[in-house]
Amino acid sequence: MIELKGINKSYGNLRVLDNVSLSIGNNEIITIVGPSGAGKTTLLQIAGTLDRPDSGSVFYDGEDIARFNDRRLSAFRNRNIGFIFQFHQLLPEFTAQENVALPAMIAGESGKGAQKRAAELLGLLGLGDRLRHKPAQMSGGERQRAAIARALVNSPRVIFADEPTGSLDSRNRDEIRSTIAGLREKLGQTFVIVTHDSSMTSIADRTVRMADGRILNPDAIGGADYEGISGPDLLM
Ligand code: ADP
Repeated sequence: MIELKGINKSYGNLRVLDNVSLSIGNNEIITIVGPSGAGKTTLLQIAGTLDRPDSGSVFYDGEDIARFNDRRLSAFRNRNIGFIFQFHQLLPEFTAQENVALPAMIAGESGKGAQKRAAELLGLLGLGDRLRHKPAQMSGGERQRAAIARALVNSPRVIFADEPTGSLDSRNRDEIRSTIAGLREKLGQTFVIVTHDSSMTSIADRTVRMADGRILNPDAIGGADYEGISGPDLLM
């Protein structure tokens, strides 16, 4: 479904991603782990079309989206990709329902239709009684679940999450982890999650380990190209 091939990215003299390839299939949960500075967030942002590689390709269903211009890319992103960040990034002056409805309205859905879909998703995430609450009136776990509902509103093919439990206590971490696992079960939702939370890897199909801009475990790269190729061969 999503194929990153030979991605390179540098900032000045610093090589942040060094020939990274990764396949992301339907209904998968993939976690990306590794020390700070390994390039995890940069990889997530390039896969999520928020950033562009210096070289290499990002294919969505065989189409290289690195060739899209900015306008086409943002329309593509709004319809196909959801994001969850460490801090919920909900708009403080809007209710939970309005925050979730907003990306659907940007995608062209009517206000009424978007609000209805937002209410359904918030209900699905156990926030049916928080529709009119503003972020400041919600707990950390509730805010993050509202952010997940917002990421889901346009039925994206994939959700990229950068440290989604990084600012939560252990109870809320457990809650978000089981929410993500449940969404994969119920909706077949694909997730790619950068995390330092070791328990998050327990719900993953694959865990990609990164250091110094490279993937350390080639068996986690996925995709047909890599089947049966052992690690050392791939590194040659
Ligand atoms: P991780 O998510 O694994 O901690 P990042 O992808 O955030 O790693 O960053 C990898 C390296 O790239 C770090 O050394 C970071 O300082 C650097 N970096 C990231 N973004 C930028 C940027 N916009 N400008 C310069 N350096 C950056």
